[in-house]
Amino acid sequence: MIDAGAVIGRLRETDARSGGRREAWTEPWAAERERLDAQARAGGGAVFVQRDSFANAWYVLPGETEETVLVGSHCDCVPGGGWLDGILGVHAGLGVLAAIAAGPTPRRTLAIVDWADEEGTRFGRSLLGSSAATGALTAAELDGLAAADGTPAAAIVSAYGFAPSALGHPEPRLRPVVAAVELHIEQGGTLERQGQAVAAVAGCLGVRRSRITLHGVAGHAGSTPMGLRADPVRAAAAFIGELFADAQEHGGLATVGRIEAQPAITTAVPARCVLDLDLRHEVLGELQALDARADRLLARDRAVGSERAALYAQDPIEFDPALVAAATAATAATAATAGTAAIAAPAGEPIRSGPLHDSAALAQAGIPTAMLFTSSSGGVSHSRDEDTPERHLVAGIEALYRLVRTLLRD
Ligand SMILES: [Zn+2]
Repeated sequence: MIDAGAVIGRLRETDARSGGRREAWTEPWAAERERLDAQARAGGGAVFVQRDSFANAWYVLPGETEETVLVGSHCDCVPGGGWLDGILGVHAGLGVLAAIAAGPTPRRTLAIVDWADEEGTRFGRSLLGSSAATGALTAAELDGLAAADGTPAAAIVSAYGFAPSALGHPEPRLRPVVAAVELHIEQGGTLERQGQAVAAVAGCLGVRRSRITLHGVAGHAGSTPMGLRADPVRAAAAFIGELFADAQEHGGLATVGRIEAQPAITTAVPARCVLDLDLRHEVLGELQALDARADRLLARDRAVGSERAALYAQDPIEFDPALVAAATAATAATAATAGTAAIAAPAGEPIRSGPLHDSAALAQAGIPTAMLFTSSSGGVSHSRDEDTPERHLVAGIEALYRLVRTLLRD
């Protein structure tokens, strides 16, 4: 059986050492990965510790066959991030590896992977290592990335063992992967609201991100009559109000996380308003409809002109139905054996992920993929306040172990 308490202990130790400072491609991140290497080596002589061409760390326990069950997540974090995002899945994976390595040789090979740079904080590109491994990240895309100080991304990542020249060639270790699973915190409040410790994840929401500029006419706050203004902030407010109501009505998510009036003068009707819009939905048709509704609303307001530039588009991702069913069964079995004392409520229906994860990159590459989420207290993440009740972490770690054991035998 897996020692969930030991996994949680390692998470707390890691947080005390490098919590909130493990940004990818930095020394604290690299040092923590060397500790993970040492921990994996100490777990059993049969485990291989390797880096692929894209700085992803592989911890491999060979089975009777080359067919591989992959357990992945990421140990990098956003600056000031919490003690669980990503690193939970890595330490839980290494805990599973140690437990399996202590028993007889499994039928399938087990690979734990620490994907490099999931968060994308240095270059603004999330899922860097996993997308490089699947072949989705191109050399041209990497060439376009740079750190805030202008240093090319390629120069920075090369110093940590990432070979830009290997881009475009999928990582050969992914070829025999028959199932990929990831344990992560939800980073939202659904499970907590449902009183649930752990749940299977059916897929990730689709995303449409755009930058909208509304053009009006500048004027004096004291001398321009309300009826004669071409006020881009007033137009933005009407646009946001209607679009958000529409998103809510159709089960979508609409967010304006950045908004700016120009010039920003208290006593002036602004000339321009720039806002970044993020739309999400689990159904592609609904996402496209919401996106089209944004265009229609912008075109309707004739008092101000508008431009809309696409920033990012990702269609909804469906995880592998058979693997989602296996993950659901693992959560149900964990709830049944742990009893109500350990888990607030039994596991229920699979949920959807709002954020993207490395698992999304694998699913897009056609690898059968599923995820498990544990609850997030208050839905808080990417913050030092990020937390999950310990009994929920135990349930998540045990459910991952159960799922992996089943998959190694299949
Ligand atoms: Zn994460």
